[in-house]
Amino acid sequence: MEGAEEMSTELVKTWIEALRSGQYNQGKGYLKKIFKSDLYAQYCCLGVLCDLLDPLGWEENLYSSSPFLPHAVLYSWDDSTYLLPDSILDKIHLSSDEVNILIEVNDIGGSFDTIALILEHIFLLESRHFLRMTVEVGDHSSLTKSIKISCTTCEYECTVVGENL
Ligand SMILES: [Zn+2]
Repeated sequence: MEGAEEMSTELVKTWIEALRSGQYNQGKGYLKKIFKSDLYAQYCCLGVLCDLLDPLGWEENLYSSSPFLPHAVLYSWDDSTYLLPDSILDKIHLSSDEVNILIEVNDIGGSFDTIALILEHIFLLESRHFLRMTVEVGDHSSLTKSIKISCTTCEYECTVVGENL
């Protein structure tokens, strides 16, 4: 099992480097989408991980075009369009709570750099650390949402504020 553990750590390191590389345009809500107007691919943080594992694994998703994004083509990877596929969850030891944290931070506009720091905190310390999330939605006038992430293993805390869409 030690081998699998090491493989998972190497994968996380590669993921963190890719998030910081500036090579991926960040998008919200879906693993990968391409707007018809500019043809640039946008990835959410989980989509970056899919792309690293197999950049040729994307398939144009003809059946679930989003009514919210009529001008974008959505892509799926291993039949997933916005969730992390189970085949990847088997490779990387993230709980569903942790996946939710990453999705929430990504989708309120937290940067890939912020997400890289969160992943470093979970995985790259001497022991694995476990994070929990509290979400606070602002009043009607402010349209902001704030996500507080606190570590149950150490004193680490981080707050990400963004748009409540
Ligand atoms: Zn910690």
